[in-house]
Amino acid sequence: MNLPVYLDNNATTPLDPLVLEEMLPALREHFGNPASSTYRQGWFAEELVNIAREKVASVINATPEEIIFTSGATESNNLVIKGANAKHIVSVVTEHKAILDPLATLLVPTTLLKVNSDGLITPEQLQDALTPETTLVSIMLANNEIGVIHPIKELTKIVKSYNSEILIHTDATQALGKIPLDVNELGIDLLSLSSHKAYGPKGIGALYIKKKPSRIKLTPLLHGGGHEEGYRSGTLNVPAIIGFGKACEIITNNLASDVERITKLTEQILTQLEHEIEGISLNGSKVHRIPGNINLLIPGVSNAELVGAVNSKVAFSISSACTSRSKKPSHVLESLDLSDEEQYQSIRLGIGRFTTEEEIEFATNSLVSAIRKLCLKN
Ligand code: PMP
Repeated sequence: MNLPVYLDNNATTPLDPLVLEEMLPALREHFGNPASSTYRQGWFAEELVNIAREKVASVINATPEEIIFTSGATESNNLVIKGANAKHIVSVVTEHKAILDPLATLLVPTTLLKVNSDGLITPEQLQDALTPETTLVSIMLANNEIGVIHPIKELTKIVKSYNSEILIHTDATQALGKIPLDVNELGIDLLSLSSHKAYGPKGIGALYIKKKPSRIKLTPLLHGGGHEEGYRSGTLNVPAIIGFGKACEIITNNLASDVERITKLTEQILTQLEHEIEGISLNGSKVHRIPGNINLLIPGVSNAELVGAVNSKVAFSISSACTSRSKKPSHVLESLDLSDEEQYQSIRLGIGRFTTEEEIEFATNSLVSAIRKLCLKN
């Protein structure tokens, strides 16, 4: 067993060995530029990218023409928020900073919906926020900190029946590999993905851009060679794209069994912690959530002290990885109406494909004994 046991799969996931294997030939031999159209190395690289694009499209039931490769979900989100030239935007307070921060750079009226104590918005709230000026709605599918899932299909129906011209974007970064994704069923126009949250390499992601009935206009962030239909210039990162494609193919084939395993391990850790530690509770909806994510409030125990006590044994996060360096309390936990004290008593555990039963047992026992000691001390 490798220590510390890695329980932060919402921050990033290890590369699946099958993904690595698929990437190696592109790193070693197939170095061609897919945009080079006059010789074999270029054609071959293009073919590899085409295959990967099909795999990424397939995992969300899109067509390959609807997939634009980006450097990750941060870029995909920025491209939507900044590139849509919106007049009025509706989004949610618990979005990832890769939505909230680009929104803050715009001089566009924006309505940020508050969430209830489950971490979710209601359909009525969304209905009330729409105005004749609204041109873009961006609501995340699964939250990276508390794992709660928004009913995007239902929310899309509300928006489209108000005005079918409004573009709907969803950040599905934390949903890929955890719940089935079908862009047609969701009814959305734009969807962001990231490879490294789904056992693929870092630095690669995608934006789904619906093709029909007409091409969606987005002002690109990067100008240059006009790659990716002009939406994203820059020479394609072929090995990473191949890896992302393989990661998506594995999800297409194994989602159900992966989810079953991860759900079982999630229940195992949660049941034992609830049994052995008095008063702990899950932050966010208990029902509408992705498997593997446990955001736990442990009354009376400072999360920083808990990290100090067990970080040689268990790796976990005390807010999202992206904000934990800032030492500010998490905007997501804040939005749930948790007191400052409760926010500093919350931890996030993220179980993944490569987490074993033995690791869960060890991690749970380590957490229980550290929590007990801290409770006695305080
Ligand atoms: N959105 C969500 C919901 C995320 O969890 C993350 C990663 N923390 C991002 C966007 C950013 O993704 P990337 O690391 O690919 O830029």
